[in-house]
Amino acid sequence: MAIIVQKYGGTSIADAEKIRRAAERVIKTVKSGCQVVVVASARGKQTDELIADARELNPNPPSRELDQLLSTGEIQSVSLFAMALDAMGYDAISFTGGQIRMITDSDYTKARIKSVDAKRIHQELDKGKIVIVAGFQGIDEKENITTLGRGGSDTTAVVLAAALKAEECEIYTDVDGICTTDPRIFENAAKMEQISYDEMLEMASLGAGVIYTRAVECGKNHDVKIHVRSSIEEKEGTIITHEVPQMEGVVVSGATIQRDLAKIGLVGVDNVPGNAAKIFAHLADAKVVVSDIVQTEISAEKANLSFIISISDLAAAKKAVEQVKDDVNCESIFVRDDIAEVSVVGVGMRTHYGVAGKMFGALAEAKVNIDSITTSEIRISCVVDEDQAEKALQAVSTVFELDKPAEQRGKN
Ligand code: ASP
Ligand code: MG
Repeated sequence: MAIIVQKYGGTSIADAEKIRRAAERVIKTVKSGCQVVVVASARGKQTDELIADARELNPNPPSRELDQLLSTGEIQSVSLFAMALDAMGYDAISFTGGQIRMITDSDYTKARIKSVDAKRIHQELDKGKIVIVAGFQGIDEKENITTLGRGGSDTTAVVLAAALKAEECEIYTDVDGICTTDPRIFENAAKMEQISYDEMLEMASLGAGVIYTRAVECGKNHDVKIHVRSSIEEKEGTIITHEVPQMEGVVVSGATIQRDLAKIGLVGVDNVPGNAAKIFAHLADAKVVVSDIVQTEISAEKANLSFIISISDLAAAKKAVEQVKDDVNCESIFVRDDIAEVSVVGVGMRTHYGVAGKMFGALAEAKVNIDSITTSEIRISCVVDEDQAEKALQAVSTVFELDKPAEQRGKN
């Protein structure tokens, strides 16, 4: 019998009425001939409330105790869920992370899953029961309770789907799926029917608040089909899956904006072996994560180098480059903290030409100046002035017809 994992987020089970509605959905799936494993998050804003409770007593709560406390939110959800199913005449059994041997490392508040024992779940499913598992939690080798980081129930669900060889991992949430771009900026952004893991990872910001990036990574590693869908309406949501040939027909699947970035440039660095290594060693020592590194030779003697960082790392990064400036004979350093990056993403870029030209053309027409451009195999990103970023996103979303379903887009 096919196994389906259904994950219900906090908003989908916030009160008794909503738990009942979710339970009805589970029953419907059982009636369709599947075995169902439910993964539940803490109800509503409970995790936030528990954190506030902890901070009221101790501004810096010991992380072991914080995890012990936070895990109770999900435990309440699963037992209530099982009770709701029982009241509707269905046999259900709830488990904590520890009870199904969801073993993690001991990195409290952001633990990583090492293994899970699916045996107990299979046994209960085979007895005809619906199994409800507490998301976001595990235990370490010494049986200490750990949590997986905010949004971690998504990861629990995908890991279980992989371990149980489930047909699909459904993530129930309060939106219809994942949009091609941010609908707050491009009002008519279409819902995506499907998207590849790699595209979703490149567009992590679109999934923000809907699906946790680590769950997508995990889905990719274990080839779990993830279906993000509405807990309110019956319609299909967005399927996140491995790449299928049909995806290549769509040139641009989505567009994103990333704010809170800064750019640092080192002008006129001596063009000799080892200088880039020195600069980035200093940045690594300062624990600064860098992206979009560009180096260009400007003469036989000199090179320019720039990179992008998160604005929260700006002070540390500035300090690091100041320290190394003289050593690499850098003539000047420039810093921009008023930028944003607009990207278009699509696996179809691998096989289509003209995508870059079309994107830059749309930006030109919108009179948006491009500061710098970087690409990956399936992404083109432009750094622009922050105050032009929304206009830029609208322009690229329009030219790539992100308001239409993929199959209706012209030959873009
Ligand atoms: N309850 C946890 C949180 O609020 C985990 C989750 O919802 O996935 O982050
Ligand atoms: Mg969530």
